[in-house]
Amino acid sequence: MAHATGKTHEHIQVSIRADVSHLTTHDRQILSLLIEATRLINPVYLTQMKQDLGGTNGIFDKTRGNNYYPEGMTRDDIEAYLDEHPDETDAVMSPFTVVERSDERLITTPYSEYYRDHLDRVSSLLEEAAQLTDNESFRKFLLGKAKAFRTNEYRTSDIDWVHVDGVPLELTIGPYESSEDKLFGVKRDIEGVLGVVLSQETAEAQMYQEQVARFDAHLGKKYGYTASTTLTPMVVMDEVLVGGRPWYGYVPMAYNLPNDADIQKEVGSKKVFIRNIMRAKMELITKLIAESVLDPHVAALVEPSIFMSFIIGHESSHGLSFRFSGNDFLTLGSPLEEGKADVFGMIFLYFLAESGIIDRDIAERAVITNLADGLRQIRFGIEEAHAVGTLIQYNWFLKHGAMQFGGKGLEFKPALFKQVLDGLGDEFYALSQTHNHEIAQQFVDEWGRVPDEVRTMIASFDDIPIDIDPVFEV
Ligand SMILES: [Zn+2]
Repeated sequence: MAHATGKTHEHIQVSIRADVSHLTTHDRQILSLLIEATRLINPVYLTQMKQDLGGTNGIFDKTRGNNYYPEGMTRDDIEAYLDEHPDETDAVMSPFTVVERSDERLITTPYSEYYRDHLDRVSSLLEEAAQLTDNESFRKFLLGKAKAFRTNEYRTSDIDWVHVDGVPLELTIGPYESSEDKLFGVKRDIEGVLGVVLSQETAEAQMYQEQVARFDAHLGKKYGYTASTTLTPMVVMDEVLVGGRPWYGYVPMAYNLPNDADIQKEVGSKKVFIRNIMRAKMELITKLIAESVLDPHVAALVEPSIFMSFIIGHESSHGLSFRFSGNDFLTLGSPLEEGKADVFGMIFLYFLAESGIIDRDIAERAVITNLADGLRQIRFGIEEAHAVGTLIQYNWFLKHGAMQFGGKGLEFKPALFKQVLDGLGDEFYALSQTHNHEIAQQFVDEWGRVPDEVRTMIASFDDIPIDIDPVFEV
């Protein structure tokens, strides 16, 4: 198909495909309909982001902003308007409306009307697919989502999505993320992600879920808390096609939705891991970074399947009974929670190894793979908050002798990994219990800085691509 992601030369093109040979004829028919529905998402997203790519060679212009609010209106302008027209607050601040100006007034249009041409067709395709499936949870989700696109009410179908189970296909479609709304952070862009579920890998991920409650109880005994683990449905898939932000912007390897706190409280959320995207990033970026900073026999330990174990361990550890939140830790909440999930994710793998569930080898390689991939992540934004969790691990491993800067770049002492991780885990746990932003800030100031050697290392692999640019073979 035509390929126009509008990305720069720092992205390496990679062909992405999923094996569909095991699907029944019925499921393949459903897949075709869902491919068509996912294709309709790009034009909607481009309208939202005010882009005109002009054929296949246009560059996505990030400076154009979006159509969420009237051109030129600031946050203060809108707040001042709502002070005078408080009854319009709900409509203007809805995640699912476009706000325009007409003389002195603001006009709001629901997505369902504004994008009706496209969304109506998406709904019809989902309804058609619903007729073909014999899985009740999937049918309910497809019909609910079709209705949501027509009524602008998404909540029920987002809950149905969390409950979809036992289907070989995974579809995430709708307005989910609000990161493009730079004024208020509420308006959502419409996206679509379609994949073929990998049953064996999904079963493995669910096995981790069963074990994480036992791990939490074990930590509870150590730290003196009563465990109340949050378990989350997990799906591992190969991506078939995406639309919207995942097509034009950052390409995620995994996601956790929905974001709505009230839905999460009611039914939790669902995590989706994307194997073929993860593989591509590992093979085309992380592996090259590893080869440039590690001895060849150590670089050879860095592998996509090991990274998958690490990521699932990480995601499972978000469900432990203690967590960092923005309420207590403000902007440090999210980077510290990510750092905690990394560290306890690795301790969790050692815990599984000690219980004889996985090989100790996997835990060790996961630590090395994570630290190699950390360089890829830090490179994305060395001064950005999300690199903080990774930097804390680097500095901790260096200080405690589990890692050092050597002739080629990084050298490891795997025999020390477990002990060093336990020490850092204790720090993270104690910090989470302070509920105190200032103490957290001191910790981040002490442990989150960028070592000069890391700066030099990152500069040395300038020629390795920043990210992948998937070409979906459908
Ligand atoms: Zn995470």
